[in-house]
Amino acid sequence: MAEANHISALLKFALGEDRFPIDVGSVAIEVSRHRFPDSPIAQVQGVDIGGFDGVLKANRDRSKWLIAYSNKVQSEGRKRYTISHEFGHYVLHRHLQYSFSCSASDIESGDHGQRNIEAEADRFACNLLMPLDDFRCQTEGEVIDFDLLGHCADRYGVSLTAAALRWIEIAPERAVLVASRDDHMLWAKSNDNAFKAGNFFATRKDTIELPQSALAHSALGSHNTRAQLSPAATWFMHEPDHVKVVEHVVNARSYDYQLTLLLMPDADSQYPQHDDGEPEEDTFDRFINNGQYPVR
Ligand SMILES: [Zn+2]
Repeated sequence: MAEANHISALLKFALGEDRFPIDVGSVAIEVSRHRFPDSPIAQVQGVDIGGFDGVLKANRDRSKWLIAYSNKVQSEGRKRYTISHEFGHYVLHRHLQYSFSCSASDIESGDHGQRNIEAEADRFACNLLMPLDDFRCQTEGEVIDFDLLGHCADRYGVSLTAAALRWIEIAPERAVLVASRDDHMLWAKSNDNAFKAGNFFATRKDTIELPQSALAHSALGSHNTRAQLSPAATWFMHEPDHVKVVEHVVNARSYDYQLTLLLMPDADSQYPQHDDGEPEEDTFDRFINNGQYPVR
């Protein structure tokens, strides 16, 4: 993170507010040439490789490095992210290995488990492409939905998935991002607030089906609804009845899966407590309890 922030600060100084989307291939070549002149990144190129999205490789005496990305990936956003991820391996891990091959499940996914160098390379990529101070300026005070996250994805030149994963880090409430296909979760990522409250899915361990009532579930047939309010207990059994979850859904176009964003108020801010410990019904819940669902 420190390495990416350092480079990000240099770019801000050199290019100002108009530095997005970052031309990460040129940045990788320039920065490595200045900072590590004995073993710079000499080339960044698209190649016809299968099986991997990105590769970082040294020549025999490690005096030069190459970043290659797969031409089979159509999305410019995913290519940019892949280059940034490989640049992350170069900055952080090039003394550990002389070759890195990374697949789509290593890059830009909420599913890292114990594979730390992949998580570190992703963290580097995020910080370089989507600095948090700028991301906050784009989203603070705005209503969060996939349109706003789509605007962020365009600004930073990344995929919607990358922008959504970035946003949940700074979400002011509990947020969980779920990628699904054929009614089953591929991976899910919770922010800290959600994780601490037990709102997470162990997708690496278990096969988890979406709730039947989920907007992304095929049981609902084809529909144009992109958001709904439902009881949090339909997603997380331990949640009390009064807790509601706002659910946003979109197709991630550059992947073949659906994204669901689940938003819930923080566990301890759900109800203001009176001195006698009785929860106070807030206006929004009264609305819902009276059967008046807000129009979305
Ligand atoms: Zn990697």
